[in-house]
Amino acid sequence: MWQWVTVYINSIVERYNEINNRYMDIVIIGGGPAGMSAALVLGRSRINTVVLNTENARNSISTHSHGFLTQDGKHPSEIFSIAKRQLEKYPSVNYKKEKALSLEKTADGFLIKTDLGSYTSERVILATGYRDNVELLGITGLSDVYGKSVYPCPFCDGYEMADKKLGVFGDAISAPMFSKIIAHWSKDVMVFTNGDKVTDAELVKNLELNGIEIIDKAIKELIAEEGQLKQVVFHDNTIVEREGGFLADTKSSESVNFARQFNIPTETGHFGMEIYTVNDNNETDVKGLYIIGDARAGWTGVAESVAEGASVAKMITHQIIEERWKS
Ligand SMILES: Cc1cc2nc3c(=O)[nH]c(=O)nc-3n(C[C@H](O)[C@H](O)[C@H](O)COP(=O)(O)OP(=O)(O)OC[C@H]3O[C@@H](n4cnc5c(N)ncnc54)[C@H](O)[C@@H]3O)c2cc1C
Repeated sequence: MWQWVTVYINSIVERYNEINNRYMDIVIIGGGPAGMSAALVLGRSRINTVVLNTENARNSISTHSHGFLTQDGKHPSEIFSIAKRQLEKYPSVNYKKEKALSLEKTADGFLIKTDLGSYTSERVILATGYRDNVELLGITGLSDVYGKSVYPCPFCDGYEMADKKLGVFGDAISAPMFSKIIAHWSKDVMVFTNGDKVTDAELVKNLELNGIEIIDKAIKELIAEEGQLKQVVFHDNTIVEREGGFLADTKSSESVNFARQFNIPTETGHFGMEIYTVNDNNETDVKGLYIIGDARAGWTGVAESVAEGASVAKMITHQIIEERWKS
């Protein structure tokens, strides 16, 4: 009986998907700064575009976004709302709160299946970003302070944390290395390796020379008040007062495996990040598949993501102009 009900429901879902399969010139998967910026320029180029977005931008956990000219200090959700509102002006852009579930190559382009239907397109822009998995660091209390007083990026939040008592959290290699950068913003920096023993005596000496203490004891918990870090408590019950800090590693991973499934070649970028190899048009070696923003490079920042979105949209417009030009 239930078997037949399942078959019946599946057939309805398939029929619904068939009806809802729409052709677009461009499908943008991901509506963070990169994807929304691409949509804006494609809208202005009057190109038939859909943006699929689950509305969970990487920095949405953060209280303020910094370093993007004219939007410095705004909440990430405010920047997103402005972007969404501004896109409404462009009739060729459809914004959908919809999740892309799969991306398949077809004879003449791509098939994108979503939780609400499907799309076909000759071109797809992947702007799905990265996500941070700080819970994997196993530090109790870290998720309460992440994005509020403990951050991943000094260029994003270093100014607000300047001259405070800071901690740099990470392993025995990444945390000491990262502390060199953080020490530019504050002269009171301590390195916490959470039990990972620092064996490089030269490194310890070097950090000491720059006034940075390494504490390699296991952390019991972080104590905070309303997201503001107050104390780092160790398993031996010793306590260190801190006002904030930075993470040398956020255990980040790609939001989706769409690029990976096409075996797109990668290269090593800053801090050992794996970066997808693209040409000057941000196009991969799969014709019609473009990658921008964090999805391409693991970490770009808001301004850079916006720039990549604008750039890819202009390049695609040029390609479409060439294709449609009769000669
Ligand atoms: C705590 C924190 C603070 C930060 N602060 C700053 C800052 O102050 N300044 C700065 O420049 N940078 C900051 N960053 C970095 C910044 O958030 C990213 O570099 C930037 O958001 C990258 O933009 P993006 O569009 O590539 O990806 P994202 O902003 O991550 O956007 C990706 C979008 O794709 C959507 N998506 C994912 N999968 C799917 C799917 N299957 N279907 C549909 N949609 C999907 C997501 O919901 C999301 O909306 C911060 C990051 C963190 C973690």
